[in-house]
Amino acid sequence: MWMKDFPLTVSYDVVVVGGGAAGFTAAIQAARAGAKTALIEKNSILGGTTVVAAVDFPGLFHVQGKQVIAGIGWEAIERTVAKGGAVLPDFSIAVGERHWEHQVRVNRFVYSTVLEEMCLEAGVALRYHEMPAAVYAEGDERRLLTAGKSGLITLGFNKMVDATGDANMTELMGYPREKGDTLQPGTLVYRLNGYQLDEVDKDKLKEAYLIAHRTGDIKETDHLPGEIPLYRELISKGSSSLHITGIDGSSSMSKTHAEIEARKALMRIYTLLRSVPGCEQLYVEFFAIECGIRETWRIVGEELVDADSYISGRKWPDAICYSYYPIDIHRHDSNTTDIRPLAEGVVPTIPYGALIPQGSEHLLAAGRCISGDQVAHSAYRVQASCMAMGQAAGAAAALAVRHDVSVRHVNVEEIRQLLWEHKAIVPTMHGVKYNKEAL
Ligand SMILES: Cc1cc2nc3c(=O)[nH]c(=O)nc-3n(C[C@H](O)[C@H](O)[C@H](O)COP(=O)(O)OP(=O)(O)OC[C@H]3O[C@@H](n4cnc5c(N)ncnc54)[C@H](O)[C@@H]3O)c2cc1C
Repeated sequence: MWMKDFPLTVSYDVVVVGGGAAGFTAAIQAARAGAKTALIEKNSILGGTTVVAAVDFPGLFHVQGKQVIAGIGWEAIERTVAKGGAVLPDFSIAVGERHWEHQVRVNRFVYSTVLEEMCLEAGVALRYHEMPAAVYAEGDERRLLTAGKSGLITLGFNKMVDATGDANMTELMGYPREKGDTLQPGTLVYRLNGYQLDEVDKDKLKEAYLIAHRTGDIKETDHLPGEIPLYRELISKGSSSLHITGIDGSSSMSKTHAEIEARKALMRIYTLLRSVPGCEQLYVEFFAIECGIRETWRIVGEELVDADSYISGRKWPDAICYSYYPIDIHRHDSNTTDIRPLAEGVVPTIPYGALIPQGSEHLLAAGRCISGDQVAHSAYRVQASCMAMGQAAGAAAALAVRHDVSVRHVNVEEIRQLLWEHKAIVPTMHGVKYNKEAL
């Protein structure tokens, strides 16, 4: 009695799923290249981890003063700067191993609004509060069933970009994915206020910590290492250091678990600190609405960005963008990080094949879920790299539609040309110089 049909509502050339760093760039690029494009986002806002997990410091666009990632992602940064939502660091100052000094801290409201403006200007149909439920074929056509606020909706699509971070569409369409045995921890970004730092009794803090640790009311992964645990958090007014271990975060239930564990951990910190003299009035001024997830599934792609190719800066024959970041592995069993800077002069590239799920004709992936091993992933997952991959996936999807071919048959030279026309920095290959700033 309550069953109903779900007739086709609207068809798109390109559907991008996920509106984070990879998704917004993919959607804008596809639309600017002439494809009728939709962007499906389960939340109510664009930006993904940058905005909802408050990891609001995209990087890295530059290598020792030289820009290696530009295009649509960089345009978003410049437009955010123009509206007073960010101040660019001086990229000409060498920062050595302090790479984070070249990240761009953005105001989340301005940044997410800029992304929205850019999508709407490009003609992208924004579909918030929707999540894919199934993909199927109807004759030669492809259908996507989504779950929205008012029930199930059927959309038509030609090509799709999986920018979910977790390779959710790859799973839904039955292509292989992989993930490590142990995943990097998640992190809840938060900010504390209301306490008097100069009145904090460090001995009492240490004593309270030791008791809470013994009774299991605080965990080592809740805080940064240090002589007086949680004092560094007080100095910095909170931090992005809280580590939620043993979580996955790629399905609704595992993400539910991650959110609950993240807020429990912050409650442990809050409760302990309020028992310390000087912190009686402490309160949580801000906490991110989602726990930031570093790592889950990666597609099994036509090519694999492994540690060797990343660390050696391999120039892949089908490279479509650069990526630059140290290897940055947050350990799952302690609140420490294995950081390995890249050697001087090394600027890794990402091959187009790492965006194509094995066996796929109509689906591409972009962002942190592309094909790579765990070590390389710890570096290429950063936001500027995700933006560059997203733009490349959007260009490839639009070209596949234009030529009516499989995503695997798009001419890489044509992707590069299109990216270059849209101000991306494209690795210089086969003697072709795509951009005066390319290395
Ligand atoms: C704690 C932490 C610190 C980090 N530090 C840095 C840093 O210093 N600098 C840096 O540049 N990067 C950093 N990163 C990495 C970086 O933020 C992410 O890897 C990057 O933002 C991933 O971009 P993405 O577009 O692939 O995925 P996301 O940003 O995760 O975007 C995915 C989007 O898809 C949506 N989505 C997911 N599943 C579905 C679905 N099934 N249906 C519909 N929508 C869906 C999500 O809501 C989200 O909007 C950090 C990450 C974390 C967690």
